[in-house]
Amino acid sequence: MPRKSTPSVLIVIFGASGDLAKRKLLPALFHLWNEDSLPKSLRILAYARTQFSDAAYRDEALKSLIEHAGDMHEGDVDQEACRRFVKQIEYQTGAYDDPAAFDALAENIATIDKAHNEAGNHLFYLATPPNVFMPITENLANAGLASSSSGGWTRLIIEKPFGHDLASAHALNQHLHKNFAEDQVFRIDHYLGKETVQNIFVLRFGNGIFEPIWNRNYVDHVQITVAETLGIGERGGYYDRSGALRDMVQNHMMQVMALTAMEPPVGMDAKSIRDQKVNLLRSVQRIAPADVERFAVRGQYSGGGVDGREVTAYLKTPEVEPDSTTETFVAWRVGIDNWRWQGVPFYLRTGKALASKLTEVNIVFRKPPLMLVDNGDSPMQMPNNVLSLRIQPDEGITLTFDAKKPGPLVEAERVQMDFSYLKAFGAQRGEAYERLILDALLGDSTLFIRHDEVEVAWDRVTALLDGWEKQEKEAKTRGDTLRLPQYRPGTWGPAAADELLKRDGRYWRNNGVKR
Ligand code: NDP
Repeated sequence: MPRKSTPSVLIVIFGASGDLAKRKLLPALFHLWNEDSLPKSLRILAYARTQFSDAAYRDEALKSLIEHAGDMHEGDVDQEACRRFVKQIEYQTGAYDDPAAFDALAENIATIDKAHNEAGNHLFYLATPPNVFMPITENLANAGLASSSSGGWTRLIIEKPFGHDLASAHALNQHLHKNFAEDQVFRIDHYLGKETVQNIFVLRFGNGIFEPIWNRNYVDHVQITVAETLGIGERGGYYDRSGALRDMVQNHMMQVMALTAMEPPVGMDAKSIRDQKVNLLRSVQRIAPADVERFAVRGQYSGGGVDGREVTAYLKTPEVEPDSTTETFVAWRVGIDNWRWQGVPFYLRTGKALASKLTEVNIVFRKPPLMLVDNGDSPMQMPNNVLSLRIQPDEGITLTFDAKKPGPLVEAERVQMDFSYLKAFGAQRGEAYERLILDALLGDSTLFIRHDEVEVAWDRVTALLDGWEKQEKEAKTRGDTLRLPQYRPGTWGPAAADELLKRDGRYWRNNGVKR
């Protein structure tokens, strides 16, 4: 049964020779097409600088589908259907900054439209590194492709990063708005395509019991963790120019925080929801450069063995500067200045080469006013009820609370009530890219990032980056080289991250409990 149906469309993928296109986009498009969520007339025009004939690219695409489309759905892929699907793909070799290549693209598009896409709807997917976002969009506009000559719609999907700091994010937005209206631009953050991230919204606004206690009167603090066990592998060149704050916090984590903390929207439409997310992000305290050390901790993983594998120290990774101050771990104590959250810190932490792979939000409720039963805890670990929203792995929700231990004494013990997506709904298809591409084709921008969300998130993140730059300059003036705290792979980051919470009488939790 088709889930939703979309009108006829031509999808142009820039950077089609790359990892994202082959590993995520083509498999997502294949599944949507194969289950009739996309029309059978779908046409894909793959574009990149690498030379391929149509036939050679179709072979590449087929290999990618056989390798990756099955993983997405945890089953064998229908290879016959894959062969039929790749027949819809054509390939154009071209540079991203060559106006003549875009004139050729326009001709190609006109021919495809005439044969297969009468509606003239065009989706341009920029699956390239960000340095070519501007040339591509400029050339599309100059070739007359910013709107459809056959009267259909024209939309752009852009992958993160949307800028490197506030100034570059603003420049990118201004550039896009020169040639495209904001409602044509779909900035993708695949976190928002995850079922469990969307469930934060349903949990809060689809149930009566949570919203009354979702505020400073009942919530002590909130922790958001995105932890990875792997190091940066061979992505040294890219990562050293980015770092954990830019790579994870500015986008995914601030989006998850916005969904967790935003006010109820006035409606379920894209504008109402994104207005509330922007309001929340605007309430995030901007850290003065001199205060950065009080609010944020950064670190780098050293080398060492974890679970039988050897991790190369960050500073010894190829293409990483030996005196790099790029962080592979960051923890940030975020303050939110609004009526709901005044005085309730949101602690964000993310890092590479950590002890386990997990993404979760822990809502930690206030302690009981007086502890009448003995639960064996020190005063610092007096029980807080914790609602844990696990985004990955073992997607689900856990409520941690104390219950009476059976026996003659009144003793309490920590127990958990657990909701598991897998147990409740069975194995889930839920591939984020499928959902998001379908939404873009249907013109629904709710799960995409609006220009002002990007800029306000960058504003707060750039303030932290400015503070770190100040620390580096001061070290240089003293004749020192700034070295970031190192942490052993397989741990939970530098000791300073624990200190950040300890200063407030708190500690990090995984799935509700002290790790
Ligand atoms: P790639 O590095 O694989 O680049 C995609 C294609 O762009 C390449 O095949 C290459 O094609 C072209 N390209 C690469 N470098 C340059 C350059 N310096 N100048 C011009 N063109 C270049 O990137 P990914 O496919 O991994 O990612 C694409 C985008 O998606 C990026 O913005 C990335 O941040 C984002 N992203 C990727 C994810 C992933 O899982 N891979 C996940 C989330 C976001 P050719 O040389 O043939 O033109």
